[in-house]
Amino acid sequence: MKNVFVPCDGCTLCCRGNAISIHLELGDDTSRYQTFPHYIPELAEKGIVMLAHNPDRSCIYLGADSCTIHGDAPALCREFDCRRLVKDMGYTKARKAAKKGLLKPGIVTRGLNLIPTLNDF
Ligand code: SF4
Ligand code: SF4
Repeated sequence: MKNVFVPCDGCTLCCRGNAISIHLELGDDTSRYQTFPHYIPELAEKGIVMLAHNPDRSCIYLGADSCTIHGDAPALCREFDCRRLVKDMGYTKARKAAKKGLLKPGIVTRGLNLIPTLNDF
């Protein structure tokens, strides 16, 4: 399940084309997931794994329009908030990160559009 506080409203950008790492230090249990070695060789060499994905690069746990492992998704999925990312980083910096391939442009745009839904905005 994605962060329940984000009004994703059918958006599944985070579940497509992203490397969701498993973080033991955040309480993730690797044995509960189908995983691949991380796509970045340096991380894979350290034993870091990411959720397995389908040939179209969508997460193996993505159903027709939402996550199928509600409540059991890894910490990164449960904690990520595109609004918070753009607000804290700043839109210009986030766009630059997207241009470098560090973020998906769609997530930056979506986060910007949803900032007004943050309670502390
Ligand atoms: S980009 Fe934002 S709205 Fe879309 S799935 Fe990710 S967290 Fe949800
Ligand atoms: S585990 Fe669920 S929320 Fe996380 S990327 Fe996969 S489908 Fe999306």
